[in-house]
Amino acid sequence: MQTTYWDLTINSNKQTIDEAITEAAACLKKGLPVAFPTETVYGLGADATSEAAVAKIFKAKGRPQDNPLIVHTATKEQLYKLVTHIPPFVEKLIQHFSPGPLTYILPTNGTCAANVTGGLDTIAVRIPDHPIAIQLLEKVNLPIAAPSANVSGKPSPTNGTHVWNDLHGKIAGILADGPTGVGVESTVIDCTGKMPIILRPGGVTKDELEAAVGPVIIDPALANEKGIPKSPGMKYKHYAPDVPLWLVTGSNHKIQEVINEERQLGKRIGVLASTDTAQLLEADQLISLGRQPEEIAAALYEALRTFKERNIDLILCETFPEQGIGQAVMNRLKKAATRIL
Ligand code: AMP
Ligand code: MG
Repeated sequence: MQTTYWDLTINSNKQTIDEAITEAAACLKKGLPVAFPTETVYGLGADATSEAAVAKIFKAKGRPQDNPLIVHTATKEQLYKLVTHIPPFVEKLIQHFSPGPLTYILPTNGTCAANVTGGLDTIAVRIPDHPIAIQLLEKVNLPIAAPSANVSGKPSPTNGTHVWNDLHGKIAGILADGPTGVGVESTVIDCTGKMPIILRPGGVTKDELEAAVGPVIIDPALANEKGIPKSPGMKYKHYAPDVPLWLVTGSNHKIQEVINEERQLGKRIGVLASTDTAQLLEADQLISLGRQPEEIAAALYEALRTFKERNIDLILCETFPEQGIGQAVMNRLKKAATRIL
């Protein structure tokens, strides 16, 4: 399949953006998959009401069939049309966080194709907070299933080039609009019980959720290697760079010791660390991710992809406080890690 790259970062104006979105929407209406930016990461979209269109997402990504997809809508009215009912606490959450990086698991009413939900009786829905995503969803006027637009198991794409590298030739097009803002995926919450349960930490933090609706539970399986997560996708190894990654907890001295030991074995070492730690280290390649947790989240996936091109044998990454969005960052890093020291 030939992949069109609509580059909205160069010489784009309202007219060229409108034209690109019209073409992309026409592809989606024909049942072809198209990648588009959201505020979290790039998504690979297809008509969620068409089993054949949704099957093309699984095929292009190499995604396991039992890992259900998130369905995106432009408005809450469209979102309501996909589920049997909306509990009052979800109304409140929608008012606070949608559009935004929060995904609601609710009972499906069967409007979306069965392969979207992996055969479950619940569906994941969200309203993305990105002008290009919203324009596209409005134009196509269909619910759009959209997981991250990467090859399954690789770090999620945070710019159009990442999507091109992973999926060109396999999808109809890519709406490329520069780097995404949040950088990690949405928070997924189960809303089928009395209280929201966080199934996947993400762009909206537990504290933010609790400030809006009171106590929120975290799926205990997230903290326990042996537990079976309620979110099917969380059992898979994810976000893995092409180079082995070790997570190292401790001071810069401890990290430097590990760097030195592995270098003595002839390995070229890449390091991911906060700006302050990176300044104190010496390695073959150092990437400083920033100082604030939000900066670290936004820079993480791009950094994980960078080492592939640099002849690095091993990535060492410092651990970050599991607070705020740091919880999502550490969840992804633990899944990416081949060893935890
Ligand atoms: P992605 O589309 O790659 O961002 O991943 C979506 C995440 O939401 C995965 O972890 C899925 O397993 C999870 N998910 C989607 N639908 C459901 C559902 N009905 N119940 C529980 N988790 C879901
Ligand atoms: Mg994904």
